[in-house]
Amino acid sequence: MNMKLLWHELRLIITILIGKILIVLCRFAKLGGTSFPGKVAEKLCPGILRELSSGLKLIMVTGTNGKTTTTRIIEKILQENKIQYITNKSGANLVNGVITAFIEAVDFLGKTDASIALIEIDEAAFSKICNLIVPHVLIVTNFFRDQLDRYGELYGTLKLVKKTAALFENIKLVLNADDSLCASIGKDLKNEVTYYGIDKDVKHSTSSNNEAYDSKDAVFCLYCQSKYEYDYHTYGHLGGFRCPNCGYARPSADISCTEIDEMKDTHTDIKMRVSNQVIKARVNLPGLYNIYNALAATACSEVLGLPIQNTVKAIGSFESGFGRMETIPADGKFLKLILVKNPTGFDQVLSYFIEQNDSNMQIAFIINDNAADGRDISWLWDVEFEKLLNISHKEPEFYVSGLRAEDMAVRLKYAGIDTNKITIIKDYEELVNKGLLRTQQSKSFYILPTYTAMLELRKLLKVKYNLHDFWE
Ligand SMILES: [Zn+2]
Repeated sequence: MNMKLLWHELRLIITILIGKILIVLCRFAKLGGTSFPGKVAEKLCPGILRELSSGLKLIMVTGTNGKTTTTRIIEKILQENKIQYITNKSGANLVNGVITAFIEAVDFLGKTDASIALIEIDEAAFSKICNLIVPHVLIVTNFFRDQLDRYGELYGTLKLVKKTAALFENIKLVLNADDSLCASIGKDLKNEVTYYGIDKDVKHSTSSNNEAYDSKDAVFCLYCQSKYEYDYHTYGHLGGFRCPNCGYARPSADISCTEIDEMKDTHTDIKMRVSNQVIKARVNLPGLYNIYNALAATACSEVLGLPIQNTVKAIGSFESGFGRMETIPADGKFLKLILVKNPTGFDQVLSYFIEQNDSNMQIAFIINDNAADGRDISWLWDVEFEKLLNISHKEPEFYVSGLRAEDMAVRLKYAGIDTNKITIIKDYEELVNKGLLRTQQSKSFYILPTYTAMLELRKLLKVKYNLHDFWE
């Protein structure tokens, strides 16, 4: 055997071995261990990701909101079709996290039985990962402004995703037709595109107020800066947009939600059109935004040529994982944890509260400003807490906690919430106990933490309610 080749093989095996040991050590040390092993592996064996993924069909999911849920629904679809796959955990969506996921999944020789790699990738890291591996299918959920400190980056990120995808004409794109930013990728590129979206005349509870649309992203045409006109809105800047000046408009969707039959706090029953067939489906997650996630996953399965009945089965039985909406039973009541990280996601959770039938609501906000949460908390002023006035008949109590509890309390006060209804409780255990005490039997206490607050809170709940670690 050629010495150079032998050395290369040996180096790969040693790197995988070291990577696997680091994954175990990080986990043992309760570090979560999602990016460090990958970082070391890339240093020891540059380009290792290309090597480990050769022969696999690569599916990537990116975008601002919904990429984790969309990825997990696609995972469920793959399971339903009995397809072996490799995937990265939510949160580990930067390049090193992806490398870690591959090292964990392959054997010591770098081999795997999987035929597909399903990768959630941060939109800002997409072009970076394409230096190493290029997807066969790319799903882009949407583009929203993440936080105030990233305002200028929205168009920059879109441009970079577009520029990168333009280098690879073979990437099959799955795009949100209702997002003028996302859909522009399909307009500008020659790649094959499958669009998904929610059709005009679909009735939903958030359509009436337009959610103060003018304060949102992407108000002006990407091509000529004229103000878009809308035939209808779904949420944020999503909907039937068209530019009166240059004619850029929402493309027609290949996969679309044609009707919402019923919206419940746990699921939504819809009709969707897939290859000119109208199919009844249950999206086993609440809220309008999850219909988009289900449509994106359905579009992906269509591109892969998977049978639609398995897809319908998967989206009808999907349960959300860490951080999105986690339900923890607590003595006949429920704790519902929902991660909040940007204004649009936060707004959606508030809309979800309005859709609920609970006669009485207990809601807690835990706001931290550690590096992983974003240091600048002024984005809270972009969240429409004024909406909470719509649930005043449910006599809600609001608890605030976290490093920036006081700022959150001030924000609620400025939203017009009665200050007698706002309580600051810094201690998490006391917060959970008090909130549950006030919650009626079989009802839910909603807790909305930022990222690091979620980790701290789960640590407490893990002991209290015997929960699993989130990577299990
Ligand atoms: Zn225009």
